[in-house]
Amino acid sequence: MNSPDTTTATPPRRVTDTAPAPRRPSQAEAEEAVRTLIRWAGDDPAREGLLGTPERVVRSYLEFFSGYDSDPVEILQRTFEEIEGYDEMVVLRDIRFESHCEHHMAPIIGRAHVAYLPSNRVVGISKLARVIDVYSKRLQIQEKLTAQIANTINEVLRPKGVGVVVDASHQCMTTRGVHKPGTTMVTSHMLGHFRSDPKTRREFMAIIGNPPLAHVGNF
Ligand SMILES: [Zn+2]
Repeated sequence: MNSPDTTTATPPRRVTDTAPAPRRPSQAEAEEAVRTLIRWAGDDPAREGLLGTPERVVRSYLEFFSGYDSDPVEILQRTFEEIEGYDEMVVLRDIRFESHCEHHMAPIIGRAHVAYLPSNRVVGISKLARVIDVYSKRLQIQEKLTAQIANTINEVLRPKGVGVVVDASHQCMTTRGVHKPGTTMVTSHMLGHFRSDPKTRREFMAIIGNPPLAHVGNF
């Protein structure tokens, strides 16, 4: 091991130096963890039907949690400024997403509705959907997911306002625990005009079909 050189202006980037980030476990370690859970559930990971399961679970996790490798701010960087003075609401509704709750690692499946009032630039609609994907492919709670989507759009696009409504079902509640299938949770996060102007908010809520707000984010 080299001792740290305090005289160097730009220290060389060596991951082994001070280990700032926790080491990501190897695929073999992750698969072993799945074998442990199978044994914990009461089954035998060595039986034929379960032999390939740890590898498949780990591969699924790569997809379920792919959002840690992407930066939503970067996704929104490319904007279009030739909008011919368009200053009405842009609404993307019924964006299906799949996430996992950070308390039980159980699926959260739902829809997000996203709106903003452009000031002088707009973003491609597929990018808005990508932002929802990136945040949902992480361990989440719905309130945080809703706020992260709204805040990121607000910070990067600097629009006159942002509205986000998320309506989702939590399998930690529908398939275990209190077992309440059919229950969904609705959260919202309103910024700028969506927060201060009831007319703007009403227009947005009408466009997305007025989901009953069982749980209200911040208005
Ligand atoms: Zn949960």
